[in-house]
Amino acid sequence: MSDFKMIINGQLVDGEASSFDVVNPATEKPFAQCPAASHEQLDQAVAAAKAAQPAWAATPIEERGAMLDKIADLLVEHKAEIGEILAQENGKPLPNAIGEIGGAAVAWTRNTAKLRLPEETLKDDDDALIKVHYKPLGVVASITPWNHPILILIWHLMPGLLAGNTMVSKPSSMTPLSTLKVIELMNSVLPAGVINCVTGEGGLGRKITSHDDIAKIVFTGSTPTGINIMQAAAPTMKRLTLELGGNDAAIVLDDADLEKCADNIFARIFGNSGQTCAALKRLYVHESKHDQLVEMLAERVKKASVGAWNEEGVKFGPVQNKDQFDFVMELIEDTKAKGGNFVVGGKAMDRDGYFIELSIATDVTDGMRIVDEEPFGPIVPVIKFSDTEDALRRANDNENGLGGSIWTADEEKGWELAKRLESGTGWVNQHSQQMPFTPFGGAKMSGVGVEHGLHGLVEYTQLQTLHMNRKGGAM
Ligand code: NDP
Repeated sequence: MSDFKMIINGQLVDGEASSFDVVNPATEKPFAQCPAASHEQLDQAVAAAKAAQPAWAATPIEERGAMLDKIADLLVEHKAEIGEILAQENGKPLPNAIGEIGGAAVAWTRNTAKLRLPEETLKDDDDALIKVHYKPLGVVASITPWNHPILILIWHLMPGLLAGNTMVSKPSSMTPLSTLKVIELMNSVLPAGVINCVTGEGGLGRKITSHDDIAKIVFTGSTPTGINIMQAAAPTMKRLTLELGGNDAAIVLDDADLEKCADNIFARIFGNSGQTCAALKRLYVHESKHDQLVEMLAERVKKASVGAWNEEGVKFGPVQNKDQFDFVMELIEDTKAKGGNFVVGGKAMDRDGYFIELSIATDVTDGMRIVDEEPFGPIVPVIKFSDTEDALRRANDNENGLGGSIWTADEEKGWELAKRLESGTGWVNQHSQQMPFTPFGGAKMSGVGVEHGLHGLVEYTQLQTLHMNRKGGAM
């Protein structure tokens, strides 16, 4: 029996396939049990969503938006209690967990609640009326990862619901508990069946991706899983939004003002201990600025406090799970073996938990695993360059294309170079930043489609073109 319950058709239910441990990454020990859904319970959740969808779609969008606003109020009210669960299952420091719920998740919910789907008139004259409008798709499934479980959940659910779809959420089995709590809260506002949540280890996600009654999948996670989802979704032609891996490059030019940008670069590398899809993961620095920037970043690393979610003053937590910890350590060992140098870090911390020191590697180059592969942990390679065109070529020479950035005092040059990055987002003197109104998605292997704002909202709809002949005869 689990301490937490799933939500199907507005009811709190136990998992018929029993329950599983959720591990606190700071202790490596289970701290709670999560229900495991049977495949029949997934079918029940989809059936509940399907039954609730026509009435939800018929509810005026203003009313749906007002309900999302009420959910934002509840997130504010319960941010401390859910933040504590999130911090324990994910490992991030408690203030960050509470901040993600009460800050970004609330802001996204409120901003999404205000969006309205447009109706466009393409022709309106004596001959014909032609319009384009957007209709909900039906039942949408959201599959979320472990790095930002609640923020990403909100990114998926709020536009999906606003557009008139009903939904089934399946959180990562590493971090399912805070999601169960948020969806329980949402059910105190929304009609039964509009949002359902099923949890389970392995197999459940795969069943979702081929389910006949699911019209769309919105997924954030790894590229290999994104490929599996695309393949499984093909026979039923599901709509897909896939936000996948990134290996974002930043290019620091010779005219960059390091005093101005070092804090930001540091934060964009190590925020959430590097476990963010659009974190800064490859740092290309002009040779004239290389040593100075490395020193500035190393100073900041030495002052940074890494520890458990509930330790005083901690800013950075552990890696979220054992597999990820092993992978990051493998990259560290490979870097050392290939002649790379860790100016700070480069080892696990001497304590329980999946803790790795914040690490900066120099004497590294393209072709080494730490540069070519997405580490998704608190390590960054710094690569020296002398020619901007060469740096741009190397930045683009990667299968991923989520984001990228240019750091320079010359706005025009920065803008032009950012346009040439092969990525869904290009930043100048910034990185990772997303806002509720800025479309965000990946180029190349980093995904399909975009999230946020109106561009993101229409991805939860079917565009329909309506023609009316006003002349009566053939046109
Ligand atoms: P996965 O992509 O394996 O898992 C993410 C979600 O997908 C989980 O809910 C998982 O469920 C589910 N899932 C797994 N396999 C399938 C499938 N075949 N069909 C449908 N759903 C499935 O990511 P991981 O959590 O294992 O992390 C692995 C790597 O992914 C990281 O190293 C990192 O590089 C990248 N990643 C990227 C993120 C991003 O924001 N872009 C976020 C997190 C990770 P279950 O937990 O039950 O397996």
